[in-house]
Amino acid sequence: MKNLKLPFDKSKIEEIIKTYPTPFHIYDEAAIRENAKNFYQAFSWMKDFKNYFAVKACPNPYILKILKEEGMGVDCSSLAELVMSEKVGFKGEEIMFSSNDTAYKEFKKAYELGAIINLDDITHINILEKTAGIPEIICFRYNPGPLREYKGNVMIGHPEDAKYGLTKEQLFEAYKIMKEKGVKRFGLHTMVATNETDRNAFVETAKMLFELVVEISKEVGIRFEFVNLGGGVGIPYRPEQGPIDLDFVSKEIEKLYQELVVKNGLAPLKIVLECGRVITGPYGYLVTTAIHTKDTYKKYIGVDACMANLMRPGMYGAYHHETVLGKEDAPQTETYDVVGSLCENNDKFAIDRKLPKIEIGDIIVIHDTGAHGYSMGFNYNGKLRSAELLLKPDGFVEHIRRAETLDDYFATLDFSKI
Ligand SMILES: *Cc1c(COP(=O)(O)O)cnc(C)c1O
Repeated sequence: MKNLKLPFDKSKIEEIIKTYPTPFHIYDEAAIRENAKNFYQAFSWMKDFKNYFAVKACPNPYILKILKEEGMGVDCSSLAELVMSEKVGFKGEEIMFSSNDTAYKEFKKAYELGAIINLDDITHINILEKTAGIPEIICFRYNPGPLREYKGNVMIGHPEDAKYGLTKEQLFEAYKIMKEKGVKRFGLHTMVATNETDRNAFVETAKMLFELVVEISKEVGIRFEFVNLGGGVGIPYRPEQGPIDLDFVSKEIEKLYQELVVKNGLAPLKIVLECGRVITGPYGYLVTTAIHTKDTYKKYIGVDACMANLMRPGMYGAYHHETVLGKEDAPQTETYDVVGSLCENNDKFAIDRKLPKIEIGDIIVIHDTGAHGYSMGFNYNGKLRSAELLLKPDGFVEHIRRAETLDDYFATLDFSKI
């Protein structure tokens, strides 16, 4: 079962709101650190195991710094993410660059930082060589297409429909080319799932990559230094769901490692991940205030946050649990749509949700916004991005990003010329 307990109560949030009005995202540092330690513990048999935190999940330098202190690297996919990681102090191979449809200047920056470059397409070999150079270590992203028996979920779709990665045939060719160019250090990457809660999916991914490492090593005559199983470990968004059993995943991967890697003389082979969601997702909350109640064909609760602060429900129909502060134990007598103010009817945080009776001024906490929450924000309808706050282990609240103002919104316009 999902842990529904909040790291704050109503009076704490009321005190915070005096300084930082709603809406805002607040992250629980103690829980992020504890989770990071447990995550590493689950994979402790793997020598030099590393999770490269997917920056896009929660691109705030304060959060990245915490994860750095917990031993994580970063997985970047754009120039801004590379620059942010550099500013936080990530260096060289602590950075994985897994981009697609990549702009040349991004390759250049990744190369200059000494990041591990994970190429998404065979044509990028030439582009990388021309715009930056051939790095000491190279990785390719594999897309198994129809060869993958395990089918993905709606967000990433079936591998054969996904725009990412190289085909199996291209992969052999790509490593051959890189070998000829003098590269001696190699990695292999795939990412075929997102928000996947089936523990067997990750075991299946490890098997697929280990088998491929065996095949490519033999045929191309190279030695692999690591496999990157990607991110995509899911979290329990719904109350009846539980977290994925990472100990099981880890133990099953260990068996496969013995069978496929060790027995074929390919050890040591580092195993790394680039998870975002499972690292910070459950430890962030969007705090919003009810500003409107409406009773027409349905009952609506209008809040001061909108889809611009959290896109997942509108975009994927994703469930995010909601708690009405101070009414945790009140009977759920009402059925509401909890909505934002965008002129878009999918701007709904909850549809037909059973909740206690809500009054204007009630504070609603939307759970699991610590990954792919703030970061997916946008400015449609002139909505401004919210503040981000960090709840420190001692209860102090740090302002880790201020809310946007109208001046920020207008900053790229020059009204004097109209
Ligand atoms: C988004 C992404 C991740 C992180 O995915 P999560 O679901 O947050 O774990 C990792 N790697 C790549 C290449 C991605 O695009």
